[in-house]
Amino acid sequence: MSETYRNLVGGEWVAAASGQTFESRNPADRRELVGRFAAGGAEDARAAVAAAAKAFPAWRAMAPGKRAQVLNKAAAYLEQNAAQFACELTQEMGKPLALAQDEIARTAQTLRFYAVEGQTYSGETFPCDDPDMVVYTQREPLGVVAVIAPWNFPASIPARKIAPALITGNTVVFKPSSDAPLTGLRLAEALVAGGLPPGVLNFVTGRASEIGAALTGAPEVKAVTFTGSTAAGEQIHRSVAMTTRTQMELGGKNPLIVMEDADLDAAADLAVKGGLSLTGQACTGTSRVLVMQPVREAFLAKLLARVQALKIGNGLEPGIDLGPLATAKQFETVLSYIEIGKTEGKLLCGGRALTGPAHEHGWFVEPAVFTDVSPQARIAQEEIFGPVLAVITVDSYQQAIAIANDTPYGLSAAIATRNPRYVHEFCRDIQSGTVKVNRTTTGNLTNAPFGGYKASTGSGFRESGRVGLEFFTQTKTVYRAV
Ligand code: NAD
Repeated sequence: MSETYRNLVGGEWVAAASGQTFESRNPADRRELVGRFAAGGAEDARAAVAAAAKAFPAWRAMAPGKRAQVLNKAAAYLEQNAAQFACELTQEMGKPLALAQDEIARTAQTLRFYAVEGQTYSGETFPCDDPDMVVYTQREPLGVVAVIAPWNFPASIPARKIAPALITGNTVVFKPSSDAPLTGLRLAEALVAGGLPPGVLNFVTGRASEIGAALTGAPEVKAVTFTGSTAAGEQIHRSVAMTTRTQMELGGKNPLIVMEDADLDAAADLAVKGGLSLTGQACTGTSRVLVMQPVREAFLAKLLARVQALKIGNGLEPGIDLGPLATAKQFETVLSYIEIGKTEGKLLCGGRALTGPAHEHGWFVEPAVFTDVSPQARIAQEEIFGPVLAVITVDSYQQAIAIANDTPYGLSAAIATRNPRYVHEFCRDIQSGTVKVNRTTTGNLTNAPFGGYKASTGSGFRESGRVGLEFFTQTKTVYRAV
């Protein structure tokens, strides 16, 4: 720990052009320095783009099977070093170690998934009246792809962008979040260890807006795949050329509807696990709970008992349910929304910054549950990205679905019910890219498509699964007379 780490440009680990670095600290204990990273800017980003452009022709020409070997070897490298990388992930952004271990395993799985899927991803042939002609499509890479990733899943989110980009023959410039750069660097290191030729993947840490502008302004960058806040996504979207493809995985305000027939113990578990694990810092995290009036009191009692039993602390310690908020900014934002919530609803529990001996050096906040929240309240409309649940009481399925759909977002949504009619209607009516029945709003499979509706997405291109390859390829239709 507390080494100085460099950027990867054209196969070399290099300092920022400015020679400057920035620090990353453990959000559970700010006294602990995780590392110093290159404070890159426009010049570094441009060098990375040039390296990626130079590497493109040879990488594109390489047989997909050879590209797949790199991904498989990188997955093995991640697995061999999983214990260390998971610890580092917890130290740099705070999630409990078990979740960090899951994420590293999931990242390796993603690389292996695309190593297989990418080798069989091809076009179609089409019937044609001309007996001398075959008509078919082939899928071709785009060129240089910019990957811009957040801190909350610093390994698995970039992996589900980088793996499909690489396997289809693109080269990449990867900018991780400055709040979790080490895990991104480990992913780059794994791909280098897997045998990736120089320049095929470049890794640049540093000033987001400057690097972002250099990437989006570079004519060689043919696509930008971004996961992060809707505000940053909009800014990036506005700054790209018309011919630059964008994929935007953005914010959410995800509802869980608890119907009167639900198993209330299970529903309370869904609210706690979906809303509070990862300290509420999941894009698909439950942030609104819409509960039917007849079961409100019983549900709230179960919810309260579960929330009060949560153990909050340093994610490296055993038995911790919730780690800290990942950054000072997150900490301040969450506390300010809790203050807003006190004016908009009733605080059922929690909501204080923790200051005792086990918590005083970290960004720890007790999870807050608000009841009697109006659907139009700010805490029911705006993404907080923290451990704050807004409970809204409803009188009917129709009212619940109308409220569930009445935010700008549409990332994930869940219902707790045993009634097949509600299940059917919910899956039909909800405006959301992911729909869960008796499961948490969080969590998605590597092999299934993932993405949002409305302001939770940009172009609508999906990530994950086989369809995740689509964004990284363009279609050429060939009419070939023999
Ligand atoms: P963020 O938007 O602040 O940053 C995301 C990434 O974009 C970081 O690498 C950041 O440095 C970079 N960035 C910020 N402004 C930029 C700009 N102008 N140009 C180029 N790059 C820029 O988001 P965050 O705080 O890292 O993550 C939290 C947000 O991410 C939440 O809104 C959450 O919902 C969202 N998120 C969405 C998904 C999804 O799949 N839909 C998954 C995880 C997180």
